[in-house]
Amino acid sequence: MFLAQDKFGRPLRDLRISVTDRCNFRCPFCMPAKTNGEEYHFLPRAEILTFEEIVRLTRILVDLGVSKIRITGGEPLLRSQIEVLVGYLANIKGIEDLALTTNGYLLAQKARALKDAGLGRVTVSLHSLDDDVFANMNGRGYSTESVLEGLRVAAEVGLSPIKINIVVQRGVNGHTIVDLARFFRRLGHVARFIEYMDVGNLNGWNQDQVVSADEIVKTISAELPLEPIERTHNSDVALRFKYKDGGGEIGIIASVTKPFCGDCARLRLSAEGKLYTCLFASEGHDIKGVLRAGATDNEIKEILTGLWSSRTDRYSEERAALMANETMPRKVEMYQLGG
Ligand code: SAM
Ligand code: SF4
Ligand code: SF4
Repeated sequence: MFLAQDKFGRPLRDLRISVTDRCNFRCPFCMPAKTNGEEYHFLPRAEILTFEEIVRLTRILVDLGVSKIRITGGEPLLRSQIEVLVGYLANIKGIEDLALTTNGYLLAQKARALKDAGLGRVTVSLHSLDDDVFANMNGRGYSTESVLEGLRVAAEVGLSPIKINIVVQRGVNGHTIVDLARFFRRLGHVARFIEYMDVGNLNGWNQDQVVSADEIVKTISAELPLEPIERTHNSDVALRFKYKDGGGEIGIIASVTKPFCGDCARLRLSAEGKLYTCLFASEGHDIKGVLRAGATDNEIKEILTGLWSSRTDRYSEERAALMANETMPRKVEMYQLGG
C-alpha cells in the first residue's frame, strides 16, 4: 500500500462521501429556504455517481491510506437504497470506521437496515430540544419528535457510539446548550457542539453569531463541571471534555476559534463526482469524467496521488487574514460537497 501525503506531510486518512445534494430540511445555516426553494434544481440523476462508481473509487482510496469513511450529503437517507451502498462499503477490507451523518428525520425507518448492512455508527444532527427553536433551525417547521425517535431506534439496533452534532448560533440556539448537554449525557450519547462556520456563500455568516469553544465550555461547565481529555488520534477534529463526575463526555468542533488544519487528513467526494481537499474549497476536481472515460485503476490512483500530494489547504488558519484583506474566495456550498 502506498500512503499518500500532502505538501505539509498530512496523510490521507478520512473520506467523506456525499451521496446526494438533496435535503428534506432547509437549515438556514446550510441550505436556506429562500435560495433553495421549489424552483431550485438539484443534480439530475445521471449526474450523480452510481454506487458502483463510489465503491470503485473508495477501494482505490483505501489503497492510498483511507481507513475512515463517513457517508453524508445533503441528507444521505434520501438516497434510494442507501443501505445497499453501505453493504458494499462495509465489505471493503481496510476500512476501520464506517459512519453516517444524518438529520435523523428518516432514521427510525432506516436504522435497522443500515445496521444489518454493516454500518458502524451514526452521527445525528439535532440543534435544540426546544421545538420552536428546532423548527426554525430546520427551516421546515418540524418538531424534534421524529429525530428523537430515530435516535431511539439507532441506539436500540446498536449504531453506536452515537454522536450528536449541534451547530451553535448566538441568538438562535445558544441559550439551549446546557439543556442539550444534560439530555444527551443522560442518554449516554456524545454531544458535539460545532462553532457556526462560514461554509458556502448562502448563510449570511457573521462572526457575531459564533459562540466560541471557550464560551461553550464555560457555559456548560458552570452547571455540569468539565475537564479536558487528551486527544487520542491526531486527526480527531473535536476537542474533548469529560464531566468531572464521570457522567460521560462532550466534544467541541472549533473550526473558527481553534483551527485544526495542521492535522486535517480529510478528502471529500461529492455526489456529482468531484473531489474536494478542503471544506471551504472554491472548486473541485472532476473524477466522474475520468471514471466514465474508462480510466484504469492505476490511472485513477495516479490522479488521486497527484491531487493529494499537491494539497496545500489550510483555510481555517487563513480565514482571519482573508477576511481582513477582503479577499474571500467564493466557496462551494456544504450540502454540495458533503459536510
Ligand atoms: N444532512 C445531514 C445532517 O444535517 O446531519 C448531513 C449533512 S450536513 C451538511 C453535515 C453537518 O454539517 C451537520 O451536522 C450540520 O449541522 C453541519 N453544518 C451545516 N452547516 C453548518 C455551518 N454553517 N456551520 C457548522 N456546521 C454546519
Ligand atoms: Fe440538510 Fe443537513 Fe444542510 Fe440541514 S445541515 S440543510 S439537514 S444537509
Ligand atoms: Fe481541513 Fe480545510 Fe477544514 Fe482546514 S479548513 S481543517 S484544511 S477542511
